Amino acid sequence: MIKTRFAPSPTGVLHVGGARTALFCWLFSRKTKGKFVLRIEDTDLERSTPESVQAILDGMAWLGLDPDEGPYFQTRRFDRYREVIAQLVDQGDAYYCECSRERLEVLREKQMANRQKPRYDGCCRELGLHPELGKPMVVRFKNPQHGVVSFHDHVKGAVSVANQELDDLVIARSDGSPTYNLSVVVDDMDMDITHVLRGDDHVNNTPRQINILRALRAKIPEYAHVPMILGDDGKRLSKRHGAVGVMEYFEAGYLPEAMLNYLVRLGWSHGDQEIFSLQEMIEYFSLDALNNSAASFNTEKLNWINQQYMMSLPLNDIVALVRQRLDRLGIDYDHELDFATVVDLYRQRSVTINMLVDSIAYCFQEFDAYDAKAAAKVLKQPALQPLQRALELFTGLQVWEAESLHAAIEAITEEFGIGMGKIGQPLRVAVTGGSFSPPIDQTLELLGRERSLARIERAIDYISTTLTT
Ligand code: GLU
Repeated sequence: MIKTRFAPSPTGVLHVGGARTALFCWLFSRKTKGKFVLRIEDTDLERSTPESVQAILDGMAWLGLDPDEGPYFQTRRFDRYREVIAQLVDQGDAYYCECSRERLEVLREKQMANRQKPRYDGCCRELGLHPELGKPMVVRFKNPQHGVVSFHDHVKGAVSVANQELDDLVIARSDGSPTYNLSVVVDDMDMDITHVLRGDDHVNNTPRQINILRALRAKIPEYAHVPMILGDDGKRLSKRHGAVGVMEYFEAGYLPEAMLNYLVRLGWSHGDQEIFSLQEMIEYFSLDALNNSAASFNTEKLNWINQQYMMSLPLNDIVALVRQRLDRLGIDYDHELDFATVVDLYRQRSVTINMLVDSIAYCFQEFDAYDAKAAAKVLKQPALQPLQRALELFTGLQVWEAESLHAAIEAITEEFGIGMGKIGQPLRVAVTGGSFSPPIDQTLELLGRERSLARIERAIDYISTTLTT
């Protein structure tokens, strides 16, 4: 059975790059009816925090990337790592090394001066040292000295590294704790991982890991190292470029469906299709279609995709998210407003849930001030009389419906010999505070009689005051 794993180090939030790796792992396991494992690599005790673990779990939950197994925590597996380190020493594939920091430093400087690649010289390799009380010793893996390590990477193609390039790496620190390469290997082996999909910053570790796996007679997994994500300036994506944590996108009102769709296209393609349902992603996903060149994060494209999902997701889903957001903002929306209709009218023109909420907030809340530009343009003397007339006609309406409101507005255009915009726009700014809304008759109907009339009055006062001052 195919098994993938996502193995983040909990030293920060779940980044866009990590989320993409997790998505690829998840998709591949879903496609092949395999399993997806989540493993928290928290062996770096100084940099790992419970808050980061939670942030990673939150990010994955938001995106719906549920693991079939885990989360496993490496810190709970130290006994197992010790056991494997001892096994490697026993079978002659690892050895104790007492070289001091100073010696290694001198060696390094000498190699650098001779323009050689700094590497351990194998000083303790054949000494057969045993741990001694009070003497700090690390354990090193006995890397083969001849031959080549080759593997087929699903992204990079054939990768070969001569063993002579690899030195005897430390697998246990002097306090007995395992190093990254050792714990990863033991876990991939014990968890029966068949496919390792990860960032290509790890591609240099792979030959070392393969050598250790071989020494343990473990099956070698298949590998796919995906290129990193760049910012729009071609540099590695970082805080400098804006939001990098996936939950920042949740906070900003993006939809998880859109985020997944955006992430999958960062380094994977299927013809020139841009919009993929989850089912389609699973169906079409293949490791060999992963791109070998780095992808750039592009907020405009993400916005475009998000907008597509704003329009195409079931209305009820969008309504639920809007309500959630209003609740978080403490905005009371509990009145007769036809909520679904408002959301439906506005989702056509909102990039995110937050933008939608911002543009419909006038329906629930009084606004403090008019949009300055909009007011300067239309809340002026020529609008005064038409607005006063609108107030009269609207007050006399039997039914407060788009149709009757429309008829009243039309009557005003005829009476004053003005175009629709000359009354529609002042009304719009009067009742919404800004210059964008669905057709004005619908806007008025949605807002309801009371609020609409009060706001038209307020605008009349506003114009009168600006005229006299
Ligand atoms: N824990 C490593 C990281 O967060 C990933 C290790 C792996 O995927 O092998 O970079």
